Amino acid sequence: MVNLQGKTALVTGSTSGIGLGIAEALGRAGANIVLNGFGDVDAALATIAATGAQSAHHPADMRKPDEIEAMIAMARERFGTVDVLVNNAGIQHVAQVEDFPAQKWDDILAINLTSSFHTTRHVIPAMRARNWGRIVNIASVHGLVGSAGKSAYVAAKHGLVGLTKVTALETAGTGITCNAICPGFVLTPLVAAQIDAIAKRDGISMEAARARLLSDKQPSGQFVTPEQLGNLVLMLCSPFGDQVRGAAWAMDGGWTAQ
Ligand code: NAD
Repeated sequence: MVNLQGKTALVTGSTSGIGLGIAEALGRAGANIVLNGFGDVDAALATIAATGAQSAHHPADMRKPDEIEAMIAMARERFGTVDVLVNNAGIQHVAQVEDFPAQKWDDILAINLTSSFHTTRHVIPAMRARNWGRIVNIASVHGLVGSAGKSAYVAAKHGLVGLTKVTALETAGTGITCNAICPGFVLTPLVAAQIDAIAKRDGISMEAARARLLSDKQPSGQFVTPEQLGNLVLMLCSPFGDQVRGAAWAMDGGWTAQ
């Protein structure tokens, strides 16, 4: 569908889950891949190597603007430029507003929203110079609707959808597009923690907790997969995506259709 040979993609938070799935799809399409994130970096690099793509990893903490700048500089030094930016890094914390730890609020806003402002502002000038670029912000259904207990996450993701719209408008006359993808539940470590919490809270098995999580919100009763999200990113990177600008594209098993 899309040939990204000679192009470079930077995916934040790509050592696990959705980010790794998207990086894998971009690697299969021929792009050089810059990974970012914590945890098992070697396993993530091996996943990308298996696609045949060139890759590198930068450990920038998305809460730290100077480390974000250093990551973009490293990507440029290694591969020349960043043509595809996927802002994916994200964390979650679930608690009522009155109990929400202030530090968690700050971290969620920094990682899930502000880091995308920094990466975006650093990559746009070179994208303008080449008159081509793709910026894909991994928001969430929580960029479109709320859920109790997720104040910081919902605020950050609504903010990310807003940043997406403005970035799309500011680049509308160019070959750069910016869009958000709004997944429903995807079975990754981020959601596994929520399933674990439901199992403990309700005294039920992990399998029953998984079904309960989905039945509360996701009419399909099935998880979205990182592979499906990777293919949506590829479509946005293809010529078919040229006029998709400022969208908040749900892939959510029907969640936001209700
Ligand atoms: P995950 O926990 O599997 O992966 C998160 C990634 O972010 C990891 O690579 C981790 O190392 C990295 N990360 C965490 N803190 C970081 C920091 N300070 N600096 C740099 N990297 C950091 O989570 P996931 O489910 O794959 O989530 C990825 C994105 O998708 C997030 O933005 C999340 O909000 C969004 N999302 C997830 C779901 C879901 O159901 N899993 C649904 C909608 C949206």
